[in-house]
Amino acid sequence: MARALVCTEDGRQLPLSARHWRCPCGAPLDLTAPPLLDPARLGAGDPSIWRWSPVIDLVDERIWSRLTLGEGGTPLLPLDPTRPSLLAKLDFLMPTLSFKDRGAVVLVAVAVSLSARSLIADSSGNAGTAIAAYAARAGLPVRIFVPAATPGAKLASMRAHGAAVEQVDGGRQAAADAAVAAVKTTGGFYASHVWQPAFLEGTKTFAFELWQQLGGRAPDDLVLPVGNGTLLLGAAKGFAELHEAGLVPLPPRLIAVQAAACAPVAAAWRAGLPTTAPVTPGPTRAEGIAIPAPVRGRQILTAVAGSGGRVVTVDEEAILDACRSLAGLGVYVEPTAAATYAGVQAHLAEEAGDRLVVFPLCGAGLKSVPRKI
Ligand SMILES: [Zn+2]
Repeated sequence: MARALVCTEDGRQLPLSARHWRCPCGAPLDLTAPPLLDPARLGAGDPSIWRWSPVIDLVDERIWSRLTLGEGGTPLLPLDPTRPSLLAKLDFLMPTLSFKDRGAVVLVAVAVSLSARSLIADSSGNAGTAIAAYAARAGLPVRIFVPAATPGAKLASMRAHGAAVEQVDGGRQAAADAAVAAVKTTGGFYASHVWQPAFLEGTKTFAFELWQQLGGRAPDDLVLPVGNGTLLLGAAKGFAELHEAGLVPLPPRLIAVQAAACAPVAAAWRAGLPTTAPVTPGPTRAEGIAIPAPVRGRQILTAVAGSGGRVVTVDEEAILDACRSLAGLGVYVEPTAAATYAGVQAHLAEEAGDRLVVFPLCGAGLKSVPRKI
């Protein structure tokens, strides 16, 4: 628990505390480095993310062992027999049916270890569901602010876990603004998967698992959905830690996928800008990545550029086609997850050679019913 918070803009250090969810300068915070990853110290036989607890290094086992639902350890396999070097990691096979469980369990465990009495979060749905589930296990009350258009299945599961769900008019940013206002007035712990760097300590296990499942190597390309970039930044961090420990010679190229209707990262990438500017979003089926002003836009662009990767966009027709293709391969995921597969098609259309390409499928299809594909 010796790790500290560090500002992503000015390098200022702050102690890990329930109050510090962003730097006084307004920028998001990271955490100082964990111990170097040592395969000899990993929990043998534990398939969950807590196998990697020596390098999550934020919460005591007495806390996380009460909260865990066995999150992590998701399958990695070729979905399409005609493409053996294209592997999907089925991260929708999680306790709350999305990859967000990786980060949510760590974040709630940190909140418990910092003696939080109540939690406040904002979400387009999946993060809220994950936070609600682990808050229930921790016995902490939680208020979750969501956009008015959040799918009913996500609202129902958050409420089933006991969360007070507040639907906010005006989209994803309005939900975030309402949560920040509530944090200011009530002093609740801001369990934000976007601002809190503890969340990325959970999502970095995606990279560790991938490395292990590939027999101790990184893929050539990793294609990831990007809204707030919590999986991309976590994966980049995980591969950076593997690289630093001498376990992978070269981290993968990161290919970021955005829905064309809401693509601030792609716009900045095309314009060669160092950070994102807010965009006015159009309607998209991929509501889980429809983030018009990502808080960590600069970090996302830096990670993609540093990996030698790029940003691709997918339109609504491609997302719908990807939903259909995946269902035809036996996998029923939500449109946000299918957008990644559409991004894979766009990426492969421009790539020559037999590269090992991995992509996640992040959210289950039952989370966004009823719909027809
Ligand atoms: Zn700062």
